[in-house]
Amino acid sequence: MVAPSAAPEIFPTQAPAPGWLTGKPGVGTITWTGCAGFLFDVEGTRICVDPFVSNPGFVDAFFRPARPNAALVRQKFPDVAAAFIGHSHWDHAMDVAVLAAAGTVVHGSTTTAELCRRQGVSDARLVQVGDGDRISVGPFTVEVIESRHGIVPLASKIDVIELRGQGMPSTPFRWPRGAVFAYRVEFGGQSVHVQTSAGIADGPLARQAPADVLIACLAARQGTPHYLQRLGEQLRPKVLIACHHDNFLHPVDQRPRPVPRLDWPEFLESAAELRQKYGTRLVQLPRGVAVDF
Ligand SMILES: [Zn+2]
Repeated sequence: MVAPSAAPEIFPTQAPAPGWLTGKPGVGTITWTGCAGFLFDVEGTRICVDPFVSNPGFVDAFFRPARPNAALVRQKFPDVAAAFIGHSHWDHAMDVAVLAAAGTVVHGSTTTAELCRRQGVSDARLVQVGDGDRISVGPFTVEVIESRHGIVPLASKIDVIELRGQGMPSTPFRWPRGAVFAYRVEFGGQSVHVQTSAGIADGPLARQAPADVLIACLAARQGTPHYLQRLGEQLRPKVLIACHHDNFLHPVDQRPRPVPRLDWPEFLESAAELRQKYGTRLVQLPRGVAVDF
């Protein structure tokens, strides 16, 4: 008799069993670092998407200038060759300048680049990207995919879109959004689509070939109709990984808590639909743990 399996918990502490992606582990590792942050390590080359671990608390996020936890950033993202930034809000871009100072080449929108410049990053470490660009870094090729931001109720009305004036925004909350990108990361015959925010730009998505892995931002997806269904239909992923479902007002070294309005049951329903249609497996990555693929 088969016992009914319990619904997967939101934040497991166990890594998935080896072979979950390629069937022959040892190709490299992937680390979900929190929010939309991922660190990929293949053949000794490291790249990351949306590195953010400073997680200022409520008071620091809303009332004080951004102050990255540089030691923590360097600890979580050592020797990263290239960073790819989805957009310039603080929970995606606040820690990027620390990495640039340590030698990482930052890829992102003109807004991300200007925020870095205003923090003293030299142009030699900045690459402004646009839809369809393909960038090679060691064993990786990364394609830039124009995308949209998820719709955050209330916040959308007071959201800062572009960087204005001189100097840095007064608080992390005032960091401008700028352009929004998803990224397709390819290495060793595998492809990983990282949907860094929960909006969709239909044209650029329609250009995408199927992907082995879909990493989907869950925060603020409610404003994007049929969000996971549309991503799934285009990408037909073998594996689905959730991200940006942890509350970023709490430190990354504490046990993760869900974002408000996560609606985990709705996500599991969508994941089950993808499994039924395309055979997609839901794989959950424990936060902060390098997982073999
Ligand atoms: Zn955002």
